[in-house]
Amino acid sequence: MKNDKKYDYLIVGAGLFGAVFAHEAKLAGKRCLVIDKREHRGGNIYCENVDGINVHKYGAHIFHTDDKDVWQYVNQFVEFNRYTNCPVANYKGKLYNLPFNMNTFYALWGVKTPAEAQAKIEEQREEFAHITSPKNLEEQALTLCGKDIYYTLIKGYTEKQWGRAATELPAFIIRRLPFRFTFDNNYFNDAYQGIPIGGYNALIDNLLDGVEVRLCEDYFENRREYDSIAHKTLFTGCIDRYYDYKCGHLDYRSLRFEHKSLDVSNFQGNAVVNYTERDVPYTRIIEHKHFEYGTQPHTVITYEYPDEYAEGKEPYYPINDEVNGKKYADYLAMAQREENVIFGGRLATYVYADMDDTIAAALRLANEQLNRH
Ligand code: FAD
Ligand code: UDP
Repeated sequence: MKNDKKYDYLIVGAGLFGAVFAHEAKLAGKRCLVIDKREHRGGNIYCENVDGINVHKYGAHIFHTDDKDVWQYVNQFVEFNRYTNCPVANYKGKLYNLPFNMNTFYALWGVKTPAEAQAKIEEQREEFAHITSPKNLEEQALTLCGKDIYYTLIKGYTEKQWGRAATELPAFIIRRLPFRFTFDNNYFNDAYQGIPIGGYNALIDNLLDGVEVRLCEDYFENRREYDSIAHKTLFTGCIDRYYDYKCGHLDYRSLRFEHKSLDVSNFQGNAVVNYTERDVPYTRIIEHKHFEYGTQPHTVITYEYPDEYAEGKEPYYPINDEVNGKKYADYLAMAQREENVIFGGRLATYVYADMDDTIAAALRLANEQLNRH
């Protein structure tokens, strides 16, 4: 292929990062080709329409941000509804509001005022005041909130999520537990929140409007050919795979989803219900229609099971411990020496990034690449 026929950018991955970058590059007059190994665009924010309900195939996604620029940016492409995430926790059949707020404290202890709640939490913490330097997550949580909250709402969920005993998990995971002494069940503190009207696919489709996208194409199946068709490659897949695992495999925590269509109009009355008992094998049940105030006569629910990661499964949560941090640093050093390849997105930078962080990072990279300041 002649040089002048080359694309300016080959973008590996039609997820949110790749889509934002492609949009910006196109605006700057660059020719881009986006490829994705999946049969759909959108990466993990993709929704499958099941009988009129947008089903979040790769885990529930709620857009929330404190960054006004990012909020304005996404609002160019889609409008957002007023969905506010107010998850409920089910522990042994009893329901508690999250995040920890006056409704939670009332359900736990019957306390009715902030002063009563604060006094109760102090009393609960008192029992563990002798732990001055917590060695693990369990000790850290007990010193922060005492045993009622810990055993009812934290221990079982966390152990399921990470597949390890709380006494074997590092304390730093919960250095802080947000307590709210108001009757406010909004999970997030951010100024802006919602679900795109029409679903996340509308956001991705609008970002990729006018950009050439090829699906079911895996970069690794024809690496040499792909590298030759563009001046530069933006790679948003797994960085360890990119370098043939030269510095070892990066670890992940995976998830398994079980979707069910039910002939009832309202299964649980809320989009998200967490199951905080260790013995219930799933961590939460998602009822998708409630993200969009659906009024259909039927519903779709998803059981979310934490899962050990193995090759062939989806890498969902990076395990950002010391061993993996060291391996990633080695990959990053190699990446920084590349001239025609740039890396971005959650898999190539081995981070857990919310959607707003992903958009902000893609815009930063685009500004750098396109010489915009
Ligand atoms: P991805 O969406 O993973 O996109 C990468 C794409 O690259 C994929 O489509 C993949 O198929 C493709 N690809 C990889 N390798 C290749 C290859 N070799 N060849 C071709 N294509 C390839 N954020 C929020 O703000 N709110 C939430 O509520 C929220 N919930 C989440 C829940 C879960 C369970 C998880 C795991 C994440 C959640 N996030 C949430 C984060 C959000 O999913 C990410 O910010 C976002 O999806 C990252 O986009 P990305 O493009 O970096 O990655
Ligand atoms: N968590 C918990 N009980 C709950 C929900 C969350 O103890 O009912 C803890 C748990 O350790 C989890 C962390 O909070 O790993 C973050 O959970 P969240 O649902 O906020 O984030 P996500 O898992 O969706 O990234």
